[in-house]
Amino acid sequence: MPAPKTILVTGAGLSGAVVARGLAEAGHRVTVIDERDHVAGNCHTARDPETGVMLHHYGPHIFHTDDVQVWDYVTRFAVMMPYRHQVKAQVAGQVYALPINLHTINQFFGRSLRPAEARDFIAGQSAGGEPVSFEDQGLRFVGRALYEAFFQGYTRKQWGVEPARLPASILKRLPLRFTYDDNYFAHRFQGIPREGYTAMVQAILAHPGISLRLNTAAETVAGGFDHQVYTGPLDRYFGHRLGRLGYRTLRFEHERVAAPYQGTAVMNYCDESVPFTRITEHMYFAPWEAERFTRSVITREYSAQAGPGDIPYYPIRLLDDKTLLARYQALARQAEGVTFLGRLGTYAYLDMDVAIRKALDGTAHLLRAFEQEARPEVFLDAA
Ligand code: UDP
Repeated sequence: MPAPKTILVTGAGLSGAVVARGLAEAGHRVTVIDERDHVAGNCHTARDPETGVMLHHYGPHIFHTDDVQVWDYVTRFAVMMPYRHQVKAQVAGQVYALPINLHTINQFFGRSLRPAEARDFIAGQSAGGEPVSFEDQGLRFVGRALYEAFFQGYTRKQWGVEPARLPASILKRLPLRFTYDDNYFAHRFQGIPREGYTAMVQAILAHPGISLRLNTAAETVAGGFDHQVYTGPLDRYFGHRLGRLGYRTLRFEHERVAAPYQGTAVMNYCDESVPFTRITEHMYFAPWEAERFTRSVITREYSAQAGPGDIPYYPIRLLDDKTLLARYQALARQAEGVTFLGRLGTYAYLDMDVAIRKALDGTAHLLRAFEQEARPEVFLDAA
């Protein structure tokens, strides 16, 4: 076994925690820093001191995956409770079920179509051609009427640009079903950690080889480590010297309410005239305990362009961003002693399960490189 290395992991979100754990289990000495006062990054959860409801502080996070190893990994560190995400959407004062399914189609068009009829009906409205943009994809996927009702306004609010400028990949996240299945995700495994994501990440980080320093910005840490795994924003690592990569940030308006408010965890508001994108009612993320609360907490979510000092959430990845990203990647490839990982480190729209998969693969790569005294890759995954 080669001599243990000292590793700095910047960021105590999922990516950083998983990589830190893997390196520590292999005998290396890992220091994890995070500038916030909590671990778990944007999947941080904490109970509201007044109502006791577990709050998803930075927006709704539902764990879902087809990756057995990733599922096994999270169940090592948390009791995953059964949870089935069913999103509702309001359009012009009516409540519909998402993702768009037979119920949505029949309700929206005032029909009672069977699956094959609905498929033909939607095909009859759908535009042809190879979809490049979000708008092309939407028009092809569901036709103009459903696209305009469910996707156009919401997407303008969420991303702040015309859907014709966004990549089709964003919409490809969502299914379209000709059944009454309204499970938002089509993955084999789905659940929410019983004590929240923060407890899960704390458990991942609870290893004698890991020392954790919260309230510690990357810029304040002196060097001297054998290697760094950096999961903060790529452009920030370089002091934004080439400019800023575009991110959407979110603003949350939390409110305690005297009674259950909307009867479900997430209600999207697709009309552009409503300023927020969605309302989250946190107690419904924990159906196993929801009945014990007499009061509830709701959160209105507003999306905006991230400025300096705002928390970055969604990488926008418009053409300009991609050009700038390529320049930062070129810069990063010349950097020594650092590996970039995660949503911010690689500027990619990663779900939690994908972040864990990449961190597990990244750990294996780093361990191999350390063992062979080789230089690790600068990017563990191409963004
Ligand atoms: N979307 C939409 N209307 C909806 C839900 C989603 O237009 O009611 C679009 C929107 O552009 C969003 C994308 O589909 O960014 C992906 O949705 P998802 O629910 O995966 O977003 P997330 O929960 O990650 O914000």
